[in-house]
Amino acid sequence: MTAPYHGRCNCGAVTATFSAEPVWVRQCWCRQCQKSAAGSCTTNALFLTDSFTLSGDLRWFSYEADSGNGVEQGFCASCGTPVIGRNTARRHACVIRLGFIEPPHDLAPTSAIWLDDAPDWAVIDPALQRFARQPPPPPETPA
Ligand SMILES: [Zn+2]
Ligand SMILES: [Zn+2]
Repeated sequence: MTAPYHGRCNCGAVTATFSAEPVWVRQCWCRQCQKSAAGSCTTNALFLTDSFTLSGDLRWFSYEADSGNGVEQGFCASCGTPVIGRNTARRHACVIRLGFIEPPHDLAPTSAIWLDDAPDWAVIDPALQRFARQPPPPPETPA
């Protein structure tokens, strides 16, 4: 199944429609993501900002990443479902937490990053491209 995709948090207060395919889908095993994802990795789809509409009340958590970039994580103000992430170094796109997107869809990760931080028990699909830390940025997509 291809776009459009629909997003919905656990309580339904935050919804979204995605009109185009994501740039990529990948797992992140960094420590911040392990906290957001209750111990495992986050799985994220990068969408261009102009390819989706989001409605509902988000709360934001902001911090400075090791790279010095500002990172903002948006979650449902009512139920806490992780919804979206923004990075000041990548203003034309946002990551959407894959669990927010309603099935059926065929979106699946093709790479796993920050494996240096993954717990010993983590099982990484050998089919995924692996990165010990942050991979080099993808080629700039025209905004
Ligand atoms: Zn909610
Ligand atoms: Zn991460």
